[in-house]
Amino acid sequence: MGKLNFADLGIAPEILKAIADLGFEEPSPIQAAAIPVLLAGHDAVGQSQTGSGKTAAFAVPAITLCETGDRSVQVLILCPTRELATQVADEVHKLSTHKRGIHAVPIYGGASYERQFYELKKGVQIVIGTPGRIMDHMDRGTLALGGVKLVVLDEADRMLDMGFREDIEKILSATPSERQTVFFSATVSKQIRDLIGRHSRDPKSVKIEQRELTVPTVEQWYYETPQRMKFEALIRLVDFHGFKLGIIFCNTQRMVDELADDLIAQGFSADRLHGGIAQAQRTRVMNKFKKAEFEFLVATDVAARGIDVDELELVVNYDLPYDAEDYVHRIGRTGRAGRKGMAVTFVSGRDIYKLQFIERFTRTKIHRGTIPSAGAVEERRVEGLLEKIREVLNRGNLATAVVDRLLEEGYSSTDIAAALYELLSGPEPDNKEPAKPAKPGSKPGSKPGSKPAATTQQPRAPEPARIPLLRPPARGMLWVRLNAGRETRISPRDIVGLLEDALGLPGRTVGIIDIIPGQSFAQVPKPYLNILRDGPREIETESGTISISLVPDDRPPRRPPPR
Ligand code: AMP
Repeated sequence: MGKLNFADLGIAPEILKAIADLGFEEPSPIQAAAIPVLLAGHDAVGQSQTGSGKTAAFAVPAITLCETGDRSVQVLILCPTRELATQVADEVHKLSTHKRGIHAVPIYGGASYERQFYELKKGVQIVIGTPGRIMDHMDRGTLALGGVKLVVLDEADRMLDMGFREDIEKILSATPSERQTVFFSATVSKQIRDLIGRHSRDPKSVKIEQRELTVPTVEQWYYETPQRMKFEALIRLVDFHGFKLGIIFCNTQRMVDELADDLIAQGFSADRLHGGIAQAQRTRVMNKFKKAEFEFLVATDVAARGIDVDELELVVNYDLPYDAEDYVHRIGRTGRAGRKGMAVTFVSGRDIYKLQFIERFTRTKIHRGTIPSAGAVEERRVEGLLEKIREVLNRGNLATAVVDRLLEEGYSSTDIAAALYELLSGPEPDNKEPAKPAKPGSKPGSKPGSKPAATTQQPRAPEPARIPLLRPPARGMLWVRLNAGRETRISPRDIVGLLEDALGLPGRTVGIIDIIPGQSFAQVPKPYLNILRDGPREIETESGTISISLVPDDRPPRRPPPR
């Protein structure tokens, strides 16, 4: 069976527009199963995990049935926690942007009553709340549920585990008996079945059928990485392993575009495929990728269907797919024909539960990996270069004429080799112009055979050490450099503390930290960096003065490592 489009599910145009804005390309399995059932007005029980897209599965029908002319509560969504209530409210807001006159409000404990009284008084059609606070408002007479047409119990099993059973029963009894009732639950215990039995009529089951899957035998790794650090993590892995051909999967068109642009800006050859791109262009991209004319294809599942490239070394789940089946399809693209392939999955926050589900369901082991440090990547790169140099040396038969010329000019063979090495290892990240060796004898006092490579025509800023292979920072962040490295035993926690003191920023805003020999680096949100614009800031510590300086972000794009 082919996959359905959102438009096939009977969704109103103004909501389809919001879905397109969000960049969702196709319904997740739970959405495809639940939306038509809910739109038809049936009671339902959806068995689904977080991350499956279940929020939109009930939010779309909820928004659909709301009448905008009427500002009484028409939909009640019960959630176990304030976090979930806020997330659901966010999604409802996003999905209803093009349906004017829809008002939705989260109502949870711990927040001020004033604001909630105010919102409820103004009138809202959709209330998303935790059972305790909803009860509270009902008791105070500030929330009337007499006009409710749909009640959704999100994560019903968790709500029961948390002891909300009685509250839920009372809330449900306060709503009209002819309402539609929908339960979402990861598990369906006897308790849940009882609740469903007492409060719904002929509920349809919208469980997703999982088919038996054959899982390819590729090496599978996952990396726990906050969303904002995924890009850095990806580049490190690519550089560390020297991958030359891979597909990177994202869940939305917007993410595909963003990531493809970022990769290109970093000097990778990359292109993109998603449903928003015209077919002719898609075919062109696909054919180029099959011929390995560029390194990385960034794609959504829809667009990458049917791509077969034998030499593919790497599949990345930049976003975790919605179901185990998509996971298996994605990773099955590598490791073809007995070749070695690697499947990498980034998980952030609660994704880990979904990953564990995929792991259980597919009965394969997905190993936990750690992202190589910048130092390790640099070391690998140097190793690779040295290996190449050794190969050339061992091959022999080297034409020495050019080198002889430099020797005659007075440079030592060590310096010539060092200069060539520098040229080979890519642009110097902290200097746009590569350092030019001064001609020997051009400066008073410089002797032929002295160290020309160390003298530049324009004296370099007194930068004690080169900045190694630093990536452009994440969006909205910049790198800062601390002149204390691994040998000082400085820890990431120390660095966060120093940055808090020196820049007055909250520690949790500090991004990636890299501690290498001689120096350390940390990513810091731009707004905290004004203090460093005029120069480094010195901080006195027990073990001496540490200088914190800004790493300018105007370095030339990185050149891919020599391959
Ligand atoms: P949920 O399981 O509802 O918590 O959803 C997980 C995440 O997936 C949320 O960030 C949604 O915005 C996103 N999402 C939901 N449905 C889709 C879809 N069909 N395509 C892409 N992303 C989606």
